[in-house]
Amino acid sequence: MKRLSTEQLLGLDKFVVDDEEAHIEVDRQLCRDCSEKPCCVACPAGLYTVKDAEISFDYAGCLECGTCRVVCPQSGSAIRWRYPRGGFGVQYRYG
Ligand code: SF4
Ligand code: SF4
Repeated sequence: MKRLSTEQLLGLDKFVVDDEEAHIEVDRQLCRDCSEKPCCVACPAGLYTVKDAEISFDYAGCLECGTCRVVCPQSGSAIRWRYPRGGFGVQYRYG
């Protein structure tokens, strides 16, 4: 059986993006004081990045795993995390 790369596996998933309501919101002001920024290495979808010394996040493509909420030292305040509204979010497919 052929092994798929992480990118190929992620490409199998389908995302219904809720353009009106983000299910995860990040407080970039609080993120400035976060020296380690563990979300950037822990998110399996690579949705957290640093651009121009500021955290950048896009909820489209979120796998709803909750890892960012767990690793964030200020998860109670820097990240507002909820599941997407009904009908939105990731739909897993297995190749
Ligand atoms: S780990 Fe939390 S506080 Fe730190 S950069 Fe990521 S979201 Fe912001
Ligand atoms: S819930 Fe998982 S996939 Fe979604 S942003 Fe957080 S770490 Fe990334």
